[in-house]
Amino acid sequence: MYPMIVIVFFTKMKALQTFFAKTPYSMYFAMITEGHDYHVYAGRYIAFDIWIHTAFHLLRWLSQGNMELLGTSPAGQTGMIAICVTPLITFPMMYFKRKGCALLRPYEIRKAMHYLFYVFAVGLCWHVPVSAIPNGGFLPFVLSISIGLYTLDSFYVHLFMCEKIETTKFNVLSSGVKISMPVSERFQRQAFHARNGFAYINLPWVDNKQWHPFSLFEDPNDPSIQEMFLMKSGDWTKAVHSALARDTTRPVWIKGPFPSPFGHASSYDNQILVASGIGITPALGAISAFKSTRRVNLIWAVRDPEMLEFFMEKMYLEHSGWNLIFYTGKKPLKPDIYN
Ligand SMILES: Cc1cc2nc3c(=O)[nH]c(=O)nc-3n(C[C@H](O)[C@H](O)[C@H](O)COP(=O)(O)OP(=O)(O)OC[C@H]3O[C@@H](n4cnc5c(N)ncnc54)[C@H](O)[C@@H]3O)c2cc1C
Repeated sequence: MYPMIVIVFFTKMKALQTFFAKTPYSMYFAMITEGHDYHVYAGRYIAFDIWIHTAFHLLRWLSQGNMELLGTSPAGQTGMIAICVTPLITFPMMYFKRKGCALLRPYEIRKAMHYLFYVFAVGLCWHVPVSAIPNGGFLPFVLSISIGLYTLDSFYVHLFMCEKIETTKFNVLSSGVKISMPVSERFQRQAFHARNGFAYINLPWVDNKQWHPFSLFEDPNDPSIQEMFLMKSGDWTKAVHSALARDTTRPVWIKGPFPSPFGHASSYDNQILVASGIGITPALGAISAFKSTRRVNLIWAVRDPEMLEFFMEKMYLEHSGWNLIFYTGKKPLKPDIYN
């Protein structure tokens, strides 16, 4: 389980990953660029492996007649804590995303329970007695270094990769909200390396506790302006939409940018980007990053006419490759857009 514990923490160290993504190590460790997939894999592994580990621990104690160790030894006590919190950390994320217990379905509840990983990690630092360390019992080191680095990384992101943008412009459409932010030079530089990528935003006038991730793309006429399109999908995005009855300017806290899933696109000179609906936003980042040096082609299925009209009218889809757009909505398009 040790490598999986390291992976599960490393893949969420966003500052360290942003740093390593600029180094040659990113060529050899896919988890630097595809962190979330590795996080999910390692998390699932731990979720099940912990039961196998516990079953054999219990069998050994049973066969040795030492079952009282379950309540009296640090291994037994911390093991019981871990076996209780691990399903709370993992199962809601694995199974209750779209169906199952309605109470556990909201993202904020699942995320809050996910933070029990601190109990898991700190508790298990005492799982192995110090006397076992020479025989390979280095779990306390693995866990304390992983949790310590993860915590430092989160502070770093909050303190040094976060900025307040006072003059953020909000454009309200019926399906969502487009926001335009004049970002700092630090942000522009990192967005360039991240191929625009994505960032977390907090709108304190909606809820100062919630940070939500959105893909970044550049204003085609001004690269110092980073934009996002927030599709109305759940409680928070709907609250943002209803708080904005008309186009306006308000402050935003933004944290990032972090590398985009289209980061590998620079390896290809004839690219085909495939997107559906609001999935167009990371593709827009790739279009603006590569349209002057590569051939970029886009295949986009979209049913929201306003979103389609918006991105076409504002010239986000201007590039020299093919744009194959499958409009699947019911409402007729404006004639100039149709043409
Ligand atoms: C890297 C990344 C880029 C994204 N880019 C865009 C984009 O450009 N435009 C866009 O409209 N949406 C984007 N999303 C999705 C967007 O983050 C969610 O739609 C938004 O957070 C929903 O919040 P809610 O409270 O309104 O909805 P909820 O009802 O809470 O959730 C709706 C869905 O969004 C997921 N979600 C909610 N909060 C978060 C969060 N903090 N982190 C990750 N997932 C969450 C939930 O699991 C659920 O599947 C992106 C997500 C990620 C992870």
